[in-house]
Amino acid sequence: MAEEKHGPTGYDDTPILLGQPWRVHDGERPMPTVVTPGATSTDPPEDAVVLFGGSDMSGWENKDGGPAEWTVENGYAQVNPKSGDILSKATFGDAQLHLEFAAPSEVRGSSQGRGNSGVFLMGLYEVQVLDGFDNRTYADGLTGAIYGQFPPLVNACRAPGEWQTYDIVFQAPRYQNSNLVSPAFLTVFLNGILLHHHKAAHGPTGHRNLSSYDPPHGPKGPLKLQDHGDLVRYRNIWMRDLGDYDQA
Ligand code: MG
Repeated sequence: MAEEKHGPTGYDDTPILLGQPWRVHDGERPMPTVVTPGATSTDPPEDAVVLFGGSDMSGWENKDGGPAEWTVENGYAQVNPKSGDILSKATFGDAQLHLEFAAPSEVRGSSQGRGNSGVFLMGLYEVQVLDGFDNRTYADGLTGAIYGQFPPLVNACRAPGEWQTYDIVFQAPRYQNSNLVSPAFLTVFLNGILLHHHKAAHGPTGHRNLSSYDPPHGPKGPLKLQDHGDLVRYRNIWMRDLGDYDQA
């Protein structure tokens, strides 16, 4: 039988880490919170806020604070054209987002007229949703673009009608006395493929204009999903509030 091994649980004679109050392998440093993962890596983990689990829109409202009137069927929510964008009732600053979306199976229209919707972090920063499969458009409007600012590194779109995954890490901008001290940062995966790595946004999303962090906005905002008139479907939408954890 192999001998049991007992490793040290920390040291108190090691150098202090640069810019941190802790020593290398500091035994006094708090251990990270335990979070139980979902049944699969796309299911919500224990600490997630489930915004849409497949059955109802109770976690959402329209821009006027009324009910979100998108169509719920077969475990997904579908854009109900002209009912407008929907906003989560829960608000977030620094956050992790998972959601799944599908463009219509039947291809209609082209460029920005094909399977257009959008995911707005804080209700302000759009990661574009589009049927970008073999669809010529402007690069900073392609699926996964930080709209109007940065094209995705690659086009990782699945075929029309297929379910696709977004996994996004968002860091809210920081202001001090109304002055920007740190921009918003986005890290985006589409179907498990990296599209943006800690990309600094120029400011909230605009259309045909330059964006700006002036005027400042609040530290938290809802997740917004765009009604662009196309029958895009969404399911399994959850977020984790990263503000709950030490990000040192
Ligand atoms: Mg859009």
